[in-house]
Amino acid sequence: MISPNRRYRVFFAVVLAAIVVPVAAQLASGCSDITLLSGAGPIANSTLPVVIIGAEPSTIPGVLSEGLSELSGQINGVNLQLTTSIPASGPYITVQFASTTSAATGTQIKEFNTDGSFKRSTISINTGLVNQAACNGLCFDPNAAGYKAAVKSTVQHEVLHTLRLNDSNMANLMGPFLGKNNVNNANSNLSCVIQRGKDLTTPATPPPTC
Ligand SMILES: [Zn+2]
Repeated sequence: MISPNRRYRVFFAVVLAAIVVPVAAQLASGCSDITLLSGAGPIANSTLPVVIIGAEPSTIPGVLSEGLSELSGQINGVNLQLTTSIPASGPYITVQFASTTSAATGTQIKEFNTDGSFKRSTISINTGLVNQAACNGLCFDPNAAGYKAAVKSTVQHEVLHTLRLNDSNMANLMGPFLGKNNVNNANSNLSCVIQRGKDLTTPATPPPTC
């Protein structure tokens, strides 16, 4: 048991990796199987800084700002503000692009304060794996078509985990990554995912009007 007088901070982390499993059958259209993750997210209608660590790949300029602008203000009213420095206080997201030999295209680690409120998320995007054999063809290839769209969708996938949306098994950007640069599941179905997120984060019972 931790004494309340001690200045310990206990964090609980949840790791969610982008799914990189081969699926033979064509995915169903839509996004109705998306649910909300347990655990807190950013508070409604807040502005959440998104801090880029390092730089995005020079081959796909604007991929982060484009991806964030399409989501900003859409889910639970949370505004996403791209910046380059970690704020002195308050929650934030960091995004780092790196070239690794990992088969995962993106990961998100979410941390919470001792009172259960959202503290921050750490997002890593693996951008540069050219050796397709290392990931069975399920990864990014900067030299193949669809690279920027796939990276942008993966950034959005991980940010949406921070905003509490869960993975999907349908054809949308919360669904499985299928083939090099996601060419076998190129439909991000973003408008469907955003509407689903709005529906899930809207209270089931509206407040009284009088
Ligand atoms: Zn995921």
